[in-house]
Amino acid sequence: MDTFDVVVVGGGPGGYIAAVRAAQLGMSVACIDAWKNAKGKPSLGGTCLNVGCIPSKALLESSENFERASHQFAEHGIQLGSVAMDVPTMQKRKDKIVDQLTSGVAYLFKKNKVTSIHGVGRFTGRKGDLTMLEAVDGDKITAVSAKNVIIATGSVPRAIPSAPVDNIDVLDNAGALALTEIPKRLGVIGAGVIGLEMGSVWRRLGSEVTLLEAMEGFLMAADEGLAKEAHKILTKDQGMRIELGAKVTSVQKTKKGLTVGYEQAGQALSIEVDKLIVAVGRAPFTTGLQLDQVGLATDERGFVPVDGHCATTVPGIWAVGDCVRGPMLAHKAEEEGVAVAERIAGQQPHIDFNHIPWVIYTAPEVSWVGQTEQALKAAGVKYRVGSFPFAANGRAKSLGETSGFVKILADAVTDRILGVHIVGPFASELIAEAVVAMEFSASSEDIARIVHAHPSLGEVLHEAALAVDGRALNM
Ligand code: FAD
Ligand code: NAD
Repeated sequence: MDTFDVVVVGGGPGGYIAAVRAAQLGMSVACIDAWKNAKGKPSLGGTCLNVGCIPSKALLESSENFERASHQFAEHGIQLGSVAMDVPTMQKRKDKIVDQLTSGVAYLFKKNKVTSIHGVGRFTGRKGDLTMLEAVDGDKITAVSAKNVIIATGSVPRAIPSAPVDNIDVLDNAGALALTEIPKRLGVIGAGVIGLEMGSVWRRLGSEVTLLEAMEGFLMAADEGLAKEAHKILTKDQGMRIELGAKVTSVQKTKKGLTVGYEQAGQALSIEVDKLIVAVGRAPFTTGLQLDQVGLATDERGFVPVDGHCATTVPGIWAVGDCVRGPMLAHKAEEEGVAVAERIAGQQPHIDFNHIPWVIYTAPEVSWVGQTEQALKAAGVKYRVGSFPFAANGRAKSLGETSGFVKILADAVTDRILGVHIVGPFASELIAEAVVAMEFSASSEDIARIVHAHPSLGEVLHEAALAVDGRALNM
């Protein structure tokens, strides 16, 4: 049996990054990962690379290009005649990107001398300070032991009994990313991040999209003003139908598709759709790990309990990413992976969980970091608001992307930035400046006094910072 300094269970962004960082720090490392792609081949990178962040962004880009070509190129004087969408080609491009990136992880493992073991990892016990594990791949069982184990087993889609997924008509994220035809009518249960991103892809390609959201409010974790603006753009401007307070009660297959029954404000209603995506959140995944063999158990919500440094209660066993508390985001998983590897190596890394950015890759994009207005109000914090619209920015005008705004919330006394909320073009990129500023405890005046290139979208952030003090220049 081989003994390693570190064995990582799970090869997603939390696990593979932890493995690479531990190897960089001179440790002997193995990573056990169970993922098989649609062709039945091992494929590293977890949910993110195989059926999450990356394929969804590939389809978002293709569908956005289609929409631009269909509706926006004409005003630039570009005449294309009729524009047609070849969905299998779009899917081939997406699959190629996924293949390149998942093979890239295998390459990184080779380069960093990380031993890659395909199979389902499970704990078999402890011998002194060593943790014993097995990787099970069919009949093949590989036993390993380790001084440190990092659990990075990720998450899976949450299921609801009223809409069982078959990935033919009722789809989870994997099914939604693999459609080969454009559904005429697409239903989505859950108007959260996946629902909005996948709904956007298929709406742009021509589907009539209806989202059924159980909560009475839209994007309730986001800043209320931001959510209101995003809702207006996605529904009024783009034609997505979003039904709030809609509780799905049944899904029935009919000759013409699916009938989705739901209750809204005490009324029994239904919609007819051709395909239905279920996107009601994700649940931590630890099935088959045999946590009990090392004296661990999940909490009542299924997460592996960890402290602020991702340590479990068993010395030498750590857990990172979607299977532990905190936002289920790839960048959060990666930073935890790095931090754990460094802590094992005796370093003192730190992650600031207050400054993890969120991005929703609709068009326009939605992003935020830090506190929302409603949270500040609830906490009784006095703050000032500076807001500036993309419509008054030259770069946004030339891009033809003028919807949305940047809003900065700053402490009324110290002027320290408490939150930044963006709906607008390239919000995913713009939020990085806000994260850096907040990490360095910047005030709104700091951003207001930084020179921003002209014309650039960054000027909207600059003007919003000026607006905190009532001195925006171009409004
Ligand atoms: P995962 O990526 O889930 O990886 C876990 C790995 O562990 C998997 O390979 C799994 O097979 C393996 N595994 C599980 N159990 C075992 C076992 N016992 N033995 C061996 N292997 C095991 N996040 C963002 O930040 N940005 C985005 O744009 C974004 N888009 C997304 C889009 C979609 C459609 C979805 C579904 C998710 C998206 N996410 C996004 C979330 C992101 O994918 C997750 O937060 C991230 O993948 C979590 O990383 P992880 O390493 O914790 O787990
Ligand atoms: P989500 O939590 O973002 O949204 C789920 C939505 O479904 C919520 O609005 C919730 O109120 C609603 N819901 C729950 N039960 C319901 C029911 N029975 N009927 C109707 N609505 C119901 O979850 P998601 O969209 O499934 O995505 C899962 C996670 O994956 C996200 O929270 C995020 O962490 C990650 N993700 C991130 C990105 C990104 O960073 N761009 C993209 C996709 C996914």
